[in-house]
Parts: sequence; C-alpha cells; structure tokens
Amino acid sequence: MERPAPADVPAEVQRILETLWSNGHAAYLVGGGVRDSLLGRAVTDWDVATGALPEQTMSLFPGGQYTNRFGTVTVPTTAPSDPMGVEVTTFRRDHRYADHRRPDSVTFTDSLEEDLARRDFTVNAIAWGRPAGQSTEPHWVDPTDGLADLETGVLRAVGDAKVRFDEDGLRLLRAARLAAQLGFDIEATTLTAMAATSHTARWVSSERVGGELRKMVAADPPSRAFAILAETGVLEHALPELAAQRGVPQDKITGHDLWGHSMATVDGASIVEPSNKTLCLTALLHDIGKPPTFADGHFIGHDEEGAKMAEALLTRLAYPRHEVARVSALIANHMFSYEPRWSGAAVRRFIRRVGRDFVDDLINLRRADNIGSGLPPEAGHLDELASRVKAELDARSPLSLRELAVDGDDLINGLGLKPGPAVGELLERLLGSVIADPARNTRERLLAEARAWTTRAEAAAE
Ligand code: ATP
Ligand code: MG
Repeated sequence: MERPAPADVPAEVQRILETLWSNGHAAYLVGGGVRDSLLGRAVTDWDVATGALPEQTMSLFPGGQYTNRFGTVTVPTTAPSDPMGVEVTTFRRDHRYADHRRPDSVTFTDSLEEDLARRDFTVNAIAWGRPAGQSTEPHWVDPTDGLADLETGVLRAVGDAKVRFDEDGLRLLRAARLAAQLGFDIEATTLTAMAATSHTARWVSSERVGGELRKMVAADPPSRAFAILAETGVLEHALPELAAQRGVPQDKITGHDLWGHSMATVDGASIVEPSNKTLCLTALLHDIGKPPTFADGHFIGHDEEGAKMAEALLTRLAYPRHEVARVSALIANHMFSYEPRWSGAAVRRFIRRVGRDFVDDLINLRRADNIGSGLPPEAGHLDELASRVKAELDARSPLSLRELAVDGDDLINGLGLKPGPAVGELLERLLGSVIADPARNTRERLLAEARAWTTRAEAAAE
C-alpha cells in the first residue's frame, strides 16, 4: 500500500506545490521537513525541490527572493512553521568542492534523482510530489532507501561516504548533530568515512560550526553528538578547545578524564533544566580553562581563564553577544562554595556578586557539575542555598545602587558634596551597609550614615 502523504503540510506550502504542478513543473517536498514529518517530529522548515528554473519560480511567486548561486528562491509565506519563507530550489547537480565546503558550480537539471543524489544522508533524500506535465497523483520517491533507514533509525551517507564528506566538511557536523537530534545510529561505513575525512571539518566556517553546536547542545542527551565528534576525530578540527579536554586527568569519577566530566556535566544540565539551552552550553564549556591552567594536579584560575576562552570561542562561533556574556559570567563565577553558616548578608553579597538574573543558572550549573562529578545534584547544601536566595529575591532585598533609597543627587544636595567619584564611592559604601542590613534602606537613615562618614573623613583629614 502506498504510504500516506506527509502529515501537516501547511496550506501555503501545499499551495506552492499546486502552483508549480499546475504550471507544468515537477515539484516535490524534500529534505528535513519530510524526514521530521515522517518521524512525527515538529517540522522546522519545509523545502521544495522543483524542475522549474529559478526565473520561472520567480515569475510564479511575486515577492520571491533569488539572491544566491544555488538555485534557491525563497517564497514568502505566513505559515508559522516557515516564518522565513519556503525555499524552493531547482533540481541541481553539484560540481567539485575545491574548498571542501561549497560546490564550485552547480548545474540545474530536470532530474529529481540527480538532485536527491547530491543530498547528504538517505533520510534527507526522500521526496514526495509529482513529476512535470503528468496527471499522476503525488507519490513518494526514494531511490536511496531512506524510508527503510528512517524506520530503523540509521543515518547513512548517500553514495560513497568518503567522497561525500571530503566534498563538504559540514556534513561531518551534520552527521553528528542529526544522529544526536534524531537518536539515530550512524551506519558503520559512514562512521568510518567520518574518521577518515575528519580534517575537512577545518574548512567549515565558524558560523556554521556555531549553528550546528547550538543544535547539538539541544539534543537529548547532548553528549551524544560530542561523543561522535570525539570518536571520529572531528572534534579536534572543528572545536579544538573542547578536544583539549580529552586525556586531562581529573579526580571526580573514577575512569573519567576531564572530557568525561564535561560530558556528564552537559547531560546533567539537560536533566536539571531541560529547556535551558544556554545552561547546557555553559555546562559543556565550564571547564575549558582547565587544560591550559593544569599544573601539579591543580587548575588554579581555570574559572577566569575559562570565562575568557568561552567568550573568545562563542564570539568566533557568532553567538549573540548577550548569550556570550551570560555563559562567560557563569563560568567566571562557577567556583563559589556555599556554607550553611553564611549570614543573610553573605547570601545577599553572593547574589550581588553574581547578579540577580544569573544566580538561578549558577546554582543549576553547580547541580549539573555535581552530577558530572558523581555526586547528588544538591551536594554542597545547594537546595538550602537556592531557598535562601529565593527568600532574598522574594523579599526584594536591595542589591544594587538603583535600589538604594538615595541617589547621587540626594548626596550632593543633602550633604553639599561636589559631584565626582567620591559620590560614587559613598553610594557603594551605603549599598554595602544596606546589604548587611536591609532595614537601613531609608532615605533619612542613609543620609545620616553618609553624613557621619563624611564628617569623620573630614575630621581625619584635618
Ligand atoms: P535542519 O533544518 O534541522 O538543519 P535539514 O536536514 O532540513 O535539517 P537544511 O539545512 O534545512 O537541513 O537542508 C535541507 C536539505 O538539504 C537537507 O535535508 C539535505 O537534503 C540537503 N542538505 C543540506 N545541507 C547539505 C549538505 N551540506 N550536503 C548535502 N545536502 C545537504
Ligand atoms: Mg531544514
């Protein structure tokens, strides 16, 4: 029996197919959308492959954009699954990949089979649609047996795996990412070919590495993709800072080196807070400062060094600035050690130091780090710290200059001070006082305190 049409194809995508068909063109759904829909996964983008030339596609879809050499016209839609528009790409053959990344040239073809043959993995080379000028019903086309691989959960290169990875190093990263994302096994020949061609990962642009890294970290468990990259040797070419953790000794879990610890920590983060991908990324990177600081069995300053390295790495990989800053700040602060004897003031100073918006992530990072060290997540009285932090946040205890009951103008006008750095210093000192005892945060009390300090300072200066 013929397999049913792909599920949940948005009406606008269907309309694009119908338009191409009714104008005498071959048109098929292909790629990740087909794959994910067959797996019952959420489809992030639908791709259409067609025999129509880009100019023909452009003339059928007003508002289409054609700004590349590869035959892709982006047709605008309002479909929520495709906010960026649907990519309608002319069937093509690719030629020579001198840079191990992009074909030197492409030739358009009217053969769907040739188009499917240039695709990376069999599960990405399944098509559903209609050929040109015929009134046949839409049907499945699967020359590489992708449907069978989809059923058994196997990722297999289309054609000669070694040639395919050698052509384009991005496929190495896509293989690890897709296997992790889909929970698939990489077929043996494909995996061997990855190891044999691992160096071509060097040709992949940092931005593309960043894009794949983002998806790897979101997989369940996230360590899966990194294990594949490490095992095939791709890791040292694509992400050398991560690869440097392999073989570095570590006394946390017996038999685990630093890399094993990082892997267990990133998986720990995805258990502690599955939806927080920035936390997973931080967990992955939290100890990257260890290899360069390793000396006499210690890693002194690895938190600061790691924060700098993470910042440089994520900037290179084109992560957004706010996320880079967050990961880096969390790594810089990850070595805190809480004691139940901390006073309320100590808890408030801790929140102030790490930042109100960072403190929950920092505690969860430690929970993940605990899991990665073979400890219960709450080891080190973390649950107690978390509830004390929450109580302070709920009480809206003043923790920043903005929350003081006085500001610089109050000090200048009330105490007759001259504007200048001394005013800032005085505000900092008042904040210290208020963090020690939040009850002091009234205007009168703070002005009186500031007056007393300035008078004392003047007396001492005379
Ligand atoms: P995702 O959208 O989750 O990144 P995808 O497989 O849909 O996964 P796209 O970048 O959207 O990836 O590409 C769409 C299709 O184009 C793929 O399914 C595959 O058929 C083909 N493709 C993408 N990148 C490559 C590549 N580097 N080499 C060969 N074919 C590729
Ligand atoms: Mg896609």
